[in-house]
Parts: sequence; structure tokens; C-alpha cells
Amino acid sequence: MIKLSDRREMAARVVARCRELAAYSEVAGETTRTFLSEPMREVHRLVAGWMTSAGMAVTVDAIGNVRGVFGGAGAPRLIIASHLDTVPNAGAFDGILGVMLGIAVVEAFAGAGLPIAIEVIGFSEEEGVRFRRPFLGSMALVGTLDEMTLGVKDTNAVTVSDAVRGFGLDPSRMGEARLSPVTKGYLEFHIEQGPVLESLGRALGVVTALVGQTRLEFTFAGHSNHAGTTPMHLRRDALAAASAWVVAVEELARGTDGLVATVGRIEAFPGAGNVVPGKVTALLDVRHAEDWVRGEAVGRLMDAAASAGAKRGVAVSHRVLMEQAAVGLDVGLTGMLEEAMRNIGEAPVLLASGAGHDAMIVAPHVASVMLFVRSPGGISHHPDEDVLLEDVDAALAVGVEFVRLVAAAY
Ligand SMILES: [Zn+2]
Repeated sequence: MIKLSDRREMAARVVARCRELAAYSEVAGETTRTFLSEPMREVHRLVAGWMTSAGMAVTVDAIGNVRGVFGGAGAPRLIIASHLDTVPNAGAFDGILGVMLGIAVVEAFAGAGLPIAIEVIGFSEEEGVRFRRPFLGSMALVGTLDEMTLGVKDTNAVTVSDAVRGFGLDPSRMGEARLSPVTKGYLEFHIEQGPVLESLGRALGVVTALVGQTRLEFTFAGHSNHAGTTPMHLRRDALAAASAWVVAVEELARGTDGLVATVGRIEAFPGAGNVVPGKVTALLDVRHAEDWVRGEAVGRLMDAAASAGAKRGVAVSHRVLMEQAAVGLDVGLTGMLEEAMRNIGEAPVLLASGAGHDAMIVAPHVASVMLFVRSPGGISHHPDEDVLLEDVDAALAVGVEFVRLVAAAY
């Protein structure tokens, strides 16, 4: 059992390490660190050093994931992972916190025997910035990174394979990045990147699922005409129809538990102040942790668009741009994470993740669980992204307790 004062010191070190890594950037004065970029080399050196000091055997796999294994190669293994890449002009904690907490959990067990092994992974790529393809690191881990993706080019016409070679790694060894067959579970600590925990006044949340998502493009086709000479009853105003629909989108989402729906872009044509808008295109994003709820909502929003159009002689059509199913996390491990929270005196809070994370890629292959750490101000993907020291301390305590419970169960 680590002493409370030691744990607080370890949590402070976690935060300090996140801040230290934030200095390694492709752009001076900010934190921008994309897949296998030059500053990632120094990040690898530091992370590998901390892993080694914690007693882990460290390797870098063919996609550039830094991996440290603590404990015997044949022992049942728990992965604790998140990502080391960032969005442009990022904060210090998105992804990085999960890796640093993983190392701290191992540090807490240093010297003590554990019947399981812990593998801490710093994924090389999650954000999808360089190749517009997210999750390259975790996809290599579960074996879903295919040849086509390895051939995708960045803006400098460098392929993923070229980038791997340029970093001194061997893309032909991608198969060796696959997770060990002794892997039994996956834990990801991550900042919430949203305001829910803060609004509840809570430090930590157990993630039950990563929401599914539908993105659609709607077209409202009416008729453009003179804004002065066309009486109201003879108009086919596409923007008026779209506007009524946008309000209906908000109303449905507000009235449906856990549903978020957003019209994030709307364009009116011809786009002149003195012309009745004849055509509007709009992008709709709908998310929910239950696929059937999302499916039903999308259906109702299609109907709402059609009826808003019909009232105004506006034809409505749509096309689906993206459809992604929700990913549920492991019920058994989620229960253990809740138990770990109770054991350290934190009443569990359950929530769904509205954003995608590596756990989404890993969960179909390995029993997976996620712990969210409160985001002050709900701010993320921004230099002001922050964490509270006491929250990191609580997350570390939960992580250590969770490992204890998992070790007893395996
Ligand atoms: Zn992240």
C-alpha cells in the first residue's frame, strides 16, 4: 500500500511529466506533435526512460508505439494505454495523461510482487492529424491496420509506411505489434474533454460506452426569387425550412436522454441579402451511446426536415456521410472500476464518452474499460486544457486499486 503522501507526490510527478512532454513540439511556442514527427523521438526517449526506471522492459513497435512491460511475459496481462500524439496547438493532457498515469500505477507496484503483468502503451497516433486517419497506433495493436492505410499519404506525399521507415522502424514487422495473447484487459485513463464531471462536482467517471455517431448532409431545395417582389405566400424559402428544422433538431435532442444532435454547418444559396434563398445545405451530427436511440432519432429528424420543407414547397433530400456504431465497454471490468472507486471512497459516476478514443478500437478485441478525469472548464484540444492535482491523485488511487482487484480476479 502506497502512503498517501507518496501518492500525492507521484500524482504531482504525473502532472509535471505531462507538462514536460508538452514542450516537445513541431511548432515553437505551442504543443503540436503529430505521428512520428521529429519531436516524438525525444518524447520516446523520455517515456522509455521513465518506463525503464519503473522496472519495465521497453520496446517500440513498428507503428511507433512505446511499450513497457512490467512482470513476467507469460503472466495474464493488463494493458494501460493512451496516446502520445496531439492535435495542433494542443494542451498537455489529452492522451499523455493516460500514459503517465499508467507508468505511475506501475511505479506504485515497484518492488511489490504482482501475479499479473502490466503493459503500458503510449500510442504513436490517435488524433488523425497527419494522415487524416485516426487510431493508427491502436489499430496496429489489434491487427486492423491494413495495407491500404499504410499507403495513405500526408500533405507532403509521404505514406504511412515511409513515415515509419523515416523514423527508423520497419513496416514489414507490423504483425509483431499485435497484442500478446496473454492480454486479458485494457484500461485507458483520459481527460473527459467535456463539462459533465465538473458540472456534477466529481473528479472521476467510469465510461460505460463510446457513443455511436451518424453524420448526414441535408439539402433543402426551394426556389430563389426577388426579396422585394415575391409575396410571402408565394415563396419557397429553403433557409426558412432549414431553420425550422434546426430548431426541431435541438428540441428532439433536449428531450431525449443522452442524445446530442448538432447542425454545425449551414450554407444558403445564392447567399445574397435581397434574394429568397433557393437552396440550403446543412450538416447534421447525431450521437448516442445506444445505437437504436440514435437510429430512431435520425429517422425522426429526417421526417422533421421533410415536414419543414413540405410546409414551404421545399424538397428535402439527404445523404449519410458517416455511420459509426456505439462501442460498449466491458461490463465485468467496468464493475471492477466502480468497485475500485468505492474502495477509495469515491462514489462511482457513470457516463458515456461523446468523443472517440483508442479504447473504441481495442474494445472489440480485449475486455476494455475507461476512466475519465474531470476537465476543468470542460476545455480540451486547446492550450488551456488542464487537470486538478487532486483528481490525478484520485485517478492514480483508483488505478492502483483496480489493478489489485484485477490481479485477484485473473
Ligand atoms: Zn485523446
